[in-house]
Amino acid sequence: MNILLDFDDVLSDTFAELERREGPATDFSVEDLRVMFPGIDLRKYMESLDFHREIPPVPGAAEGVNWIIARGHKVRYASARSPDVQKVSLEWLRERGFPPVPLHCLGRDGKKELLRADPYDLLIDDQMRYLNIAREQGRRAIALDRRWNGSWDGDRIVTWEDIKSAF
Ligand SMILES: [Mg+2]
Repeated sequence: MNILLDFDDVLSDTFAELERREGPATDFSVEDLRVMFPGIDLRKYMESLDFHREIPPVPGAAEGVNWIIARGHKVRYASARSPDVQKVSLEWLRERGFPPVPLHCLGRDGKKELLRADPYDLLIDDQMRYLNIAREQGRRAIALDRRWNGSWDGDRIVTWEDIKSAF
């Protein structure tokens, strides 16, 4: 299979790092960090190379990605991160034992375009805006369980340890 993996909150525990710094988010009704963290200047995080360096990995993610590749699948990372953090993101992946497969940091619109145009078979993501595009394109879409994707009615893994049963 040709597989696209999201980055934030699939490989990196970005939301957990934001909560560690800013306190708990309260509103998960909308998949939008500006709603979850009202009154916070999110740009200071999204543009900060140090913030991106310090985000912890999601437990089991590197092992899970390595397992997928060992099974013979083709994997790429498809992120809505800005191209400005591509380099620091590649360093982060390498330092945490993730396989060195291509990383696309495309911004939100660029990621949507990729999901509509690319001939992938499977997307693993945490955000329903992207999972829904994959579904519309007739691709398989698996959600990694997060507080904001509870209404996703498609396939779901609770943790990366579940990835083997999802294949
Ligand atoms: Mg994500």
